[in-house]
Amino acid sequence: MGTVEENPKVLMETSPPHPAMHDPVGPQPLLAVAPGDLATWLKARHAPAWQAQAIRQWVIQRRAESFDVMTDLGKELRVKLEADFRPLGTQKIVEQKAADGTRKLLLRLWDGESVECVMIPDEERRTACVSTQVGCGMGCVFCASGLNGVLRNLKSGEILEQLIRLRNALPTGQRLTNVVVMGMGEPLANLDELLEALALAGDPKGLGIGARHITISTVGLPAKMRRLADLKKQYHLAVSLHAPDDALRQTIVPTNTGIDDILQAADYFFEKTGRQVTFEYVLLRELNDQKQHAQALAKRLGGRPAHVNLIPFNEVDGLPYRRPDDLALKVFIDELQKAGLSVKVRKRKGSEIDAACGQLRRRSERGVSLPLAPAASSSDHSLSK
Ligand code: SF4
Repeated sequence: MGTVEENPKVLMETSPPHPAMHDPVGPQPLLAVAPGDLATWLKARHAPAWQAQAIRQWVIQRRAESFDVMTDLGKELRVKLEADFRPLGTQKIVEQKAADGTRKLLLRLWDGESVECVMIPDEERRTACVSTQVGCGMGCVFCASGLNGVLRNLKSGEILEQLIRLRNALPTGQRLTNVVVMGMGEPLANLDELLEALALAGDPKGLGIGARHITISTVGLPAKMRRLADLKKQYHLAVSLHAPDDALRQTIVPTNTGIDDILQAADYFFEKTGRQVTFEYVLLRELNDQKQHAQALAKRLGGRPAHVNLIPFNEVDGLPYRRPDDLALKVFIDELQKAGLSVKVRKRKGSEIDAACGQLRRRSERGVSLPLAPAASSSDHSLSK
């Protein structure tokens, strides 16, 4: 990284990695510290324990990115905080903005790894798309995020920080309205940390984004889908199928555990939460986009109160897959609709930035200047597993 791209529609800011970001024994990211531990830290310094909540709110609600701005705390305390903590543990190393307002950040984590997150504006909505792992172990063949496997799970604070960083990039007074957990990683493979982050995002004293405005996407881990269902939260669940039968799915999602099990778990989720499940389907030319695939998919999903999101693949250098042609797409939609399924085709957003899942991180890692447009893998703006 370190170069400014020559695309007038793209704002790219870069900065060298902060040395402390590589030092796990340096000042700790504030959101990695449990509120109780922060209260204990305060008490040991003769400060009131209740200030732990106030300090966290400065970061989560009041956009503080340094202790200096926390002017209702004494100067001496701010100096001590500065010595032991960092308000945010991530460092923004790249920021890209597309003409349609889509904004993508590449964040450096404390161990030098990096993750991507995206903010997609759409009329009154401002949707954040966040990552849950460094890399991904699911290996979907069309996706840049899974190319090197999974390196580690993100901590809840690292997931929450993506939301905070995206919100802080919005003008004062604007808030994030929705969250989709569709960035790098398989969210259900890191469910505990994700749930902790989403609880804070949903807290009216946090970011105030309620469960009904949050979509969790999965490639289909049946046991975890059932666990999520048992919590009876109002999160929306999106399940990526990408094929109507196991033989084909195996070639697209090598970690496929069997469509029957996945659909039964999806039915269970609907039963427990009352929330209709969305099925995501990336269309790859001549691989899974033919009329017989649509018919088989319609048969497989038949009778379910299901919604299908179709995502025409956008071509990426180095991958052999192609976008479906318009006629194939139309036929596919018609077949699903004839079977009574509700169908949407995903809108393309932020196409001139590296907005697809894993694309920007790979550019950064390789130090290679890849073409900026069209950028896509699983979707145009990371909104698919
Ligand atoms: S599409 Fe999602 S689940 Fe599949 S490899 Fe990419 S990040 Fe992982």
